[in-house]
Amino acid sequence: MKLLVIGSGGREHALVWKLAQSPHVTRILCAPGNAGIAEERLAKNTGLVECVNISAEDLPKLLAFAQEKKPDLTIVGPDNPLALGIVDLFQDNALRIWGPNKRAAQFEASKVFSQAFMERHGIPTARAETFSDAGAAKRFAQDLGGNCVVKADGLALGKGVLVCHTIEEANRAIDEMLVSKAFGAARARIVLQEFLEGVEVSLHALCDGKVAKLFPTSQDHKRALDDDKGLNTGGMGTYSPTPFLSDSELDQVGRAILDPWLKGCAAEGIDYRGILYPGVMLTKTGPKVLEFYSRFGDPETQVYLPRLENDLVELLDASATGTLARHELKWRNDAAVCVVMASGGYPGSYGKGAMIDGLAEAGALPNAKVFHAGTARSGAGVVTNGGRVLGVTAWASSLQSARDAAYSAVAKIKFDGAHFRRDIAAKALRHVVQTISCP
Ligand code: AMP
Repeated sequence: MKLLVIGSGGREHALVWKLAQSPHVTRILCAPGNAGIAEERLAKNTGLVECVNISAEDLPKLLAFAQEKKPDLTIVGPDNPLALGIVDLFQDNALRIWGPNKRAAQFEASKVFSQAFMERHGIPTARAETFSDAGAAKRFAQDLGGNCVVKADGLALGKGVLVCHTIEEANRAIDEMLVSKAFGAARARIVLQEFLEGVEVSLHALCDGKVAKLFPTSQDHKRALDDDKGLNTGGMGTYSPTPFLSDSELDQVGRAILDPWLKGCAAEGIDYRGILYPGVMLTKTGPKVLEFYSRFGDPETQVYLPRLENDLVELLDASATGTLARHELKWRNDAAVCVVMASGGYPGSYGKGAMIDGLAEAGALPNAKVFHAGTARSGAGVVTNGGRVLGVTAWASSLQSARDAAYSAVAKIKFDGAHFRRDIAAKALRHVVQTISCP
């Protein structure tokens, strides 16, 4: 099979790495890809993955490229092309593509749609209201004592969520989104949710329009600094599985969310084929969905795929063609840990072009893989080219060993201004120790 993968981050590198292992795959094209993706070789014929410099959001150029190259399947990594309707466009042109169509991708692209859907179909979520009027929004924020999360509707590139703890903070966030429209005119509506306390987990389910197959648990570390301090980021590291949910609890939580979600989709004629990723808070009063994403979580993919035993291309093809019921997802018992190495300053402004040393040494370690996110080739070397630069991932039979291995690989890699969290999976390990010593 010839594949076209769209995107350029750590998620896409992990997807390409796993797809390249499939005996079905004879060629992979990636738009636009990155320096690490361009070094991957196919298991079938040792051919290199070919990167082409087309942006993931340039739908007309992607279509023209696909019409010329005729991939058997196109796989969409990021949310923006999905929200822009790449799946509908390719399907209208008789090209097979994996990912939710524009209507289905609204689960991520529109917080207002998503919140209303959850309420219509009894999916457990935070108490929330939708507003376009700042005065009414401020009154609701006051009711919540200022403890709330203000979410811009529409495409926000991960920047449209402001967590508030005082009435002043909430008023400022509401003004920013509804009065000064800091997130653009498209954000003329907001969802205001109560702030939920608890442990946050990432769920993923592969869907084919009829069934949803749940992945094991994973957990992201969203804040930039150790001990969950600093700004929210696209994710600074992940591990899987998380000890905060047992397998039976995962099953219960998954069903509590996925059963009404599937019924709701069927009732409303939403044909969801792709990954559904609910961000879930495990609160004292049960699990609650904070938001839905309509694609793989970026650092989550980097810990899921090393654990996945199935052939990924078979699964994605089954998801696209509505035949997923025939497949059983199989996972290695290993734990996996991914530590993100970022450019100094991320998620604020940061420089690009710093030479990265030690990639070969880190990559040579057993059971480790350095996924590239923001990197580019420069002469014979690789330089930084984004906020999140690398996802340094390792797997082992225990979480502790996987974590040690990931940090050993991180220690081999150097670039100016490199920043990474030193506490990825640390809370999980403490939790395991406490659970064992205090049964
Ligand atoms: P983002 O991935 O940028 O959309 O950020 C969303 C993050 O905001 C989530 O991962 C949570 O950490 C946080 N968040 C969103 N909604 C809530 C909520 N209702 N209560 C507490 N935290 C929330």
